[in-house]
Amino acid sequence: MRLRYSDEDEAFRAELIDWLATNAPTEAEVAETKHSSADMPDWARRWQRRLFDNGWLVPGWPPELGGRNASPRQQMIYFEELAGRDLQRSANVQGLGIVAPSILDYGNDEQKERFALPTLRAEIAWCIGMSEPGAGSDLAGISTRAEVHDDVFVVNGQKVWTSGAHHADWCLCYVRTGPTQPKHRGISALIIDMKSPGITCRPLAELTEPDFADFNEVFFSDVVVPRQNLLGELNGGWPITQGSLAHERAMLWVNHAQNVQRIVQGLIAAHPDARFHDAVASLYIDAQAMSLMGYLGFAKYAKGQSSPEHSLLKLFGSETQRRAFLTGVDAFAIDAFDRSREAPKVVRGGAWADQYLRAFAATIAGGTSEIQRNIIAERVLGLPR
Ligand SMILES: Cc1cc2nc3c(=O)[nH]c(=O)nc-3n(C[C@H](O)[C@H](O)[C@H](O)COP(=O)(O)OP(=O)(O)OC[C@H]3O[C@@H](n4cnc5c(N)ncnc54)[C@H](O)[C@@H]3O)c2cc1C
Repeated sequence: MRLRYSDEDEAFRAELIDWLATNAPTEAEVAETKHSSADMPDWARRWQRRLFDNGWLVPGWPPELGGRNASPRQQMIYFEELAGRDLQRSANVQGLGIVAPSILDYGNDEQKERFALPTLRAEIAWCIGMSEPGAGSDLAGISTRAEVHDDVFVVNGQKVWTSGAHHADWCLCYVRTGPTQPKHRGISALIIDMKSPGITCRPLAELTEPDFADFNEVFFSDVVVPRQNLLGELNGGWPITQGSLAHERAMLWVNHAQNVQRIVQGLIAAHPDARFHDAVASLYIDAQAMSLMGYLGFAKYAKGQSSPEHSLLKLFGSETQRRAFLTGVDAFAIDAFDRSREAPKVVRGGAWADQYLRAFAATIAGGTSEIQRNIIAERVLGLPR
């Protein structure tokens, strides 16, 4: 099977490659970033702004939202070219990929103007407050609550694993506003200013780099939020949580497929022992399968059909990536811990063992592998609960 794009689509690709050649951030700029993915160094703000101004930030959207009304196939080309160069569009991934689309879908005109556009232009950074110590996979079980007092909400409770909260200007935070309602129906989405009195952020050190933190515990103590910062309806937050995760899932697989290909190339280049040929070949095949499954799901999405492939790819992609790094750890043995021998970079650089430990993150964030298997069993295969 040979997959080919039309001449018009290839012209789109050529224009993008040309633009990237003069506008993409330099390696020196990217290497400057020592902080978390949610931190916004100046070069990353300038880069996102260049993408926005030139219609390359979200090509499928209209120019006023940083796009160029690109067709679904052209958007596919765009993601391939960026992933192939290991280029992130934004240093505030959750702001661009999840919060901005949610505000555009559910916000009123004032919220779109005040929050969505500045997010797209990299003027503000976001964190997302979903998970709590007692509610992760079972997100509907959140207990952080907001009471309505005249024209404000008063928020009390705790979030955890909040990526980038210590750098964020704003938090899209899910709170319980209807304690007597069925649990999915009593949740609202609030836009909370992270500088509000009563918010405490405690960064959590990571196993791979104890002096580095991306996650946080965030505590809310009588935090006052203006009523106009309610996103969507009161007690209507649940569909917003579902929408935001859908945006996240749809954009993940291209990166997974390219990451696995890059790890496979790294394994081949380092000439591991012949004992690992089978494992490397199997990973190579999985990377190809992932791309083809991605294209299949994409073709359905482009026709407006549902694409269960996206649920499969979140599971398959993140688990294959983890297995690829584990193959590296097995193959390089003690050298897998040698930080002067860098493994192919996925999230941040490091030795094979560092990357292997970090690879678990993608099997948890945005819904764990076990939850993905439940979704596939029940919603794709139609098995009983
Ligand atoms: C890199 C990363 C970034 C993150 N960023 C954010 C963020 O910015 N904001 C935010 O709010 N959260 C964030 N999270 C948290 C993430 O959403 C949760 O970790 C995830 O939803 C799982 O919840 P939990 O950790 O509470 O685990 P739990 O839900 O307590 O699960 C524990 C274990 O039980 C299993 N399990 C649970 N329920 C079932 C079931 N029904 N069937 C079978 N197995 C089950 C799980 O698979 C898991 O293995 C992030 C996580 C990671 C790894």
